[in-house]
Amino acid sequence: MDIYNESGYGIARIRIEESDNNYNYIVWCTETRECAVIDPIDPITILNFVRDNGLMVKYVINTHCHPDHISGNDPILKVSLSLISKALIHPLGEELIGTRYDTVDDGDVISVGNQEIKVMHTPGHCPEHISLILGKNVFVGDTLFLSGCGNTKFRGVVEDLYQSISKLRELPDDYRMFVGHDYAEANLKFAMNIEPGNKDAKKKFDEIKKAASENKEALPTTIGEEKKYNPFMRYDVKEVVDELKNRNPDLDTSPGSVFKELRELKN
Ligand SMILES: [Zn+2]
Repeated sequence: MDIYNESGYGIARIRIEESDNNYNYIVWCTETRECAVIDPIDPITILNFVRDNGLMVKYVINTHCHPDHISGNDPILKVSLSLISKALIHPLGEELIGTRYDTVDDGDVISVGNQEIKVMHTPGHCPEHISLILGKNVFVGDTLFLSGCGNTKFRGVVEDLYQSISKLRELPDDYRMFVGHDYAEANLKFAMNIEPGNKDAKKKFDEIKKAASENKEALPTTIGEEKKYNPFMRYDVKEVVDELKNRNPDLDTSPGSVFKELRELKN
């Protein structure tokens, strides 16, 4: 578990290796001790942390309703501390969730103590996907990963994913990006395959390997860092477009088509 203590709030990141290197997050207001749990699948670790730190769960927030992002909802919502708490999901996920919930949509603000979390609708990995902004942090779920992006195999639409990533790319460079899974090594290998001359990809790859050898993680990444090596944020960069055109001379080089081609190559 990694903890980030900021002015007014805290963030805890829990890595769950047994479940596809998922990340669970807890964010809390340091003044009121209210917290929100994002995408829980390890309720025991989460509830221990909540108890040990004197927190009270106000919300579970699901970035989307794939099973590996909602399976811990019920155990957390059922404990006595959180009798009044609810899951928050995008309306397009309503059919998929069994827990007591409310819906939130693009532009909504979720209050956790004195802190405000802004909701961005970022469909593509699946229709109900949302990203969450707290201070200079963005929780992107499975929309983006370190050097990668979510797949569109389970209810996804690649054109929507392109639009959502274009929106996320507009966030300030210094925003930290908290992702839903760790696929960094494989993703950076893909980035280096697409752009063999990209020094930032190689540098990040060395950084994650070094961190792993010390049992650490080279996270979180930032929007600005990702723009330097993440192919899925570089669909309009000359080196990427040229490489894809080389591989497929018939390729339409509009940004959306390049993005789609990248997603297909990664599949
Ligand atoms: Zn997912």
